[in-house]
Amino acid sequence: WLKITGSLFYSNGIAVKVMGTITDITTVKNEEFQRKDLMAFLSHELRTPLSIAKLYVQHSYKIVKKEKVNELANNLAKADYQTERMVNMIDNFLTLSHMENSKLIVQPKGFDLTDTISEIIKDMAFMYPGRVFKMESENHVKVNADKDKIIQVLINYLNNAVKYSPADTPISISCRKIGDQIRVGVSDKGPGISTDNQKHLFNRYSRVHDENNIRVKGFGLGLFLSREIIESHGGKVWVQSEPGEGSTFGFTLK
Ligand code: ADP
Repeated sequence: WLKITGSLFYSNGIAVKVMGTITDITTVKNEEFQRKDLMAFLSHELRTPLSIAKLYVQHSYKIVKKEKVNELANNLAKADYQTERMVNMIDNFLTLSHMENSKLIVQPKGFDLTDTISEIIKDMAFMYPGRVFKMESENHVKVNADKDKIIQVLINYLNNAVKYSPADTPISISCRKIGDQIRVGVSDKGPGISTDNQKHLFNRYSRVHDENNIRVKGFGLGLFLSREIIESHGGKVWVQSEPGEGSTFGFTLK
């Protein structure tokens, strides 16, 4: 991107001299692009943990009114956990936006993926009362990964399952160790996705525009960010789906 500024000097109505500068504004344009991404990220990705925290706070408020103090403490701890996750995500994103090549920084640590998934399922069940969430996992599958970012991927998949499948259908999450690989999948009984549409889903801003999705709002960023996160761990994302049969979105980690 080149920006040209300057003046023309005239003599008897004829331009005789041009003075000015040509500036390379590529960096400015890149910054504008990153700001757009930042706004989309903040509104899309921060909304989920923020609304979970909001629900716990609301629930606590109702309990305070009834003076059930123990349960209040428990709920406040959960709200604290969700807020902490938001702060971490903001820190990560600010780091990301300062990086020119937009590569994600992951900070892997060993943690229990089975326990993490059951915590997330409890949160989801609290957030979506009446919705059935099932878990099929081997006991205590351990993983070396960036916990907050893996949580982000799981929540993206689970939120999509909630958004795109009927409220009276169950959502199941599986977690298995196969050889030296860990395989996680989130399955729903929603409308499913054609093989052609599956190819583009993990691209930035990609959305399926058909009659099933028309009422569901979104930015087409969740799956893109999920892929970035999993690939920056050296893993792979995948989808298995048949129109009319539901979908399974998953990832594989070493
Ligand atoms: P968003 O949901 O904000 O549009 P995502 O990147 O999370 O963005 O998803 C991209 C697209 O993939 C969605 O717009 C939708 O068309 C499709 N999709 C994702 N998850 C599912 C699902 N579980 N069932 C059917 N379609 C899905």
